[in-house]
Amino acid sequence: MRLGFVGLGIMGAPMALNLLKGGHELTVWNRTAAACEPLRAAGAAVAETAAATAAASDITFAMLADPEAALAVADGPEGICAGLRPGAGYVDMSTVDAATSAQVAAAVAAVAGRFVEAPVSGTKAPAEQGTLIILAAGDRELYDQAAPALDLMGKKRVFLGAVGQGARMKLVVNMIMGGMMTAFCEGLALAGNSDLDPEELLAILEAGALANPMFRGKGPNMIAGHFGVAFPLKHMQKDLRLALALGQEQAVALPTATAANDRFTAALTAGDGNLDFSAVWRVWDD
Ligand code: NAP
Repeated sequence: MRLGFVGLGIMGAPMALNLLKGGHELTVWNRTAAACEPLRAAGAAVAETAAATAAASDITFAMLADPEAALAVADGPEGICAGLRPGAGYVDMSTVDAATSAQVAAAVAAVAGRFVEAPVSGTKAPAEQGTLIILAAGDRELYDQAAPALDLMGKKRVFLGAVGQGARMKLVVNMIMGGMMTAFCEGLALAGNSDLDPEELLAILEAGALANPMFRGKGPNMIAGHFGVAFPLKHMQKDLRLALALGQEQAVALPTATAANDRFTAALTAGDGNLDFSAVWRVWDD
């Protein structure tokens, strides 16, 4: 199967590399061309446009920043839909809202293509290791056809039904994550101001029912002031913004997510958008 991949950022580059390592013929494109070079060196063909990537591929995958990027790449001039052959597949793995995903699905349907949304849970290391959790929805036949490729990128995948359900599930998951991170920051701040050792707090959390890979992985770096990016803070704030919009749509009160979004927005305004999302700690720590 000839595959394509567009959007070679923190997540997209290692995901595309895993498709290559799996033995697939791969064509790639990225807005900033330099990001294609490591993939070229690994054996991928590099296309001039997203349209050319889709034209060369049976299934094209995408991993793009946000709704604006997803729409521009799918349906803009020289975008995916300008090259997609009838019957060919487009699998957008970006985190977007359901309305954006529906717009992309409609654009793909208008050129007789097939569409699956497949946002992922998991960050840079799982993307490198091929152990993401894939939350798919849309065209079931395309999902089944794409399964061997999805399994090169993820350790678990679920099919959630009609377009929009994958996007919604992803926003729910990340909303919980954003609230957990700001609750963690509050705990660190309160411990610090109360003359409690933050390392001791981490050890106590780790020993009990609140132990989790996020506190374990991020906690020591946060205390040390290291915020090397795995999941950019600007994307976490985008996800909270989109989750809050979903809350409005569904008439569900989301006070914890609202408070978390306030903190992430403050961090974004302070210029920390390109740091890891754990850098929201600087709102308390500075
Ligand atoms: P990233 O490193 O910021 O990469 C974003 C990608 O989108 C880049 O390839 C960028 O191209 C491209 N892009 C942005 N705006 C564009 C536009 N207008 N037209 C064309 N291309 C555009 O982000 P990432 O961390 O890989 O995340 C990608 C997606 O996955 C996001 O939706 C994010 O929320 C989601 N996600 C991320 C993680 C994580 O831990 N990082 C985990 C799960 C899900 P350039 O190189 O030209 O800027």
